[in-house]
Amino acid sequence: MARHSKAAVVPKPNDPLVIKDIEIPELVPGSILLKVANAGVCGTDVHLWHGKLTGVPYPLILGHEVVGTVEDLGSGQTKDLDAGQIEIGDRVTFHDVTKTCYSCWNCLVAKAPTKCTNREVYGITRDSSKFPFLIGGYSEYMYLTPGTHMMSIPENVSFNGAISAGCALPTAVHAATRSPLTWGANVAVQGAGPVGLMIAMIAKVNGARTVTSIDQAPNRLELAEEFGATHTLNIREGTVEDRKKFLRDISNGHGPDIVYEATGAARAIPEGIELVREGGTYTICGQYTDSGTVEVRPHLMNRKHLDIRTVWGTETVHVYRAIKTIAENYDRFPFEKLVTHRFPLRDAQKALEAQEKLISIKAVIAPNG
Ligand SMILES: [Zn+2]
Ligand SMILES: [Zn+2]
Repeated sequence: MARHSKAAVVPKPNDPLVIKDIEIPELVPGSILLKVANAGVCGTDVHLWHGKLTGVPYPLILGHEVVGTVEDLGSGQTKDLDAGQIEIGDRVTFHDVTKTCYSCWNCLVAKAPTKCTNREVYGITRDSSKFPFLIGGYSEYMYLTPGTHMMSIPENVSFNGAISAGCALPTAVHAATRSPLTWGANVAVQGAGPVGLMIAMIAKVNGARTVTSIDQAPNRLELAEEFGATHTLNIREGTVEDRKKFLRDISNGHGPDIVYEATGAARAIPEGIELVREGGTYTICGQYTDSGTVEVRPHLMNRKHLDIRTVWGTETVHVYRAIKTIAENYDRFPFEKLVTHRFPLRDAQKALEAQEKLISIKAVIAPNG
């Protein structure tokens, strides 16, 4: 069994990543040593590198979207969410949120467990200077503590294919379940990054009549068509009015029943409010980091009788449904194509830069080659 693990560590915000050799602690009962195959590079990782999120302990090992192979197990029974026994050599993934307390006010009274005040997340809020040290996926090995919500990766799904179960698809599942997505709906999706692509895919699977992806990158819009978009619009060609007219024309003059926002850009919000039909729903899930302020017309929101919802974080159920959705639709959509760049651990820094410049659709770090 491996005794040490190389990991890429962020010493403090904005410092270059450093490769460190970390001793692997003894496995306690119910724990899992995971040999990392892929760690997805998430937009959040770039923000964490720049110190833009509060409550994060540095030095930090990044990586909360992780797939890999079980290298070793602590004593006792370790099961996945379907109650299947986990064995050495199994291909697995897990929900990055390792603790939701279900006893704080947000959990119990507000019924908003993704806003749990005691949440602990691998690669984000867990402290790499304390046991079990190997808390992020930018590492050859991860030490998964007892109680981590494990999911087996179905046989027909490759490690690259499973990586969208990290953040993108669970966020999309959460957004879809917070919106009135029904058979025959006309849907528009602002943004064709991993989250927007996964929302388009879910809308298609759920029987949407039209799915229009809106972005500025031609390669992303091409991929959107492969993930179920019936139409695409490039914001660099034409105005908001043009897009509004197009969306009305394909929906018998009404406009989209639901507009999803997955852009990360504040300026998308006033446009979304313009595009959605009267009495429609606007679901916002792409503003995880503060992209600034923007002018909106409250009268328009009121006059259109809009239902506006936002989505924060994911629950285990969303990750569980994500991995099942991938497996059941693997022949229908090109999940593996989301991974456009692959970096060795020593180039973790370059991977963050590729993500920051949006060169990649999805970059992964493959710490074990
Ligand atoms: Zn993420
Ligand atoms: Zn709580």
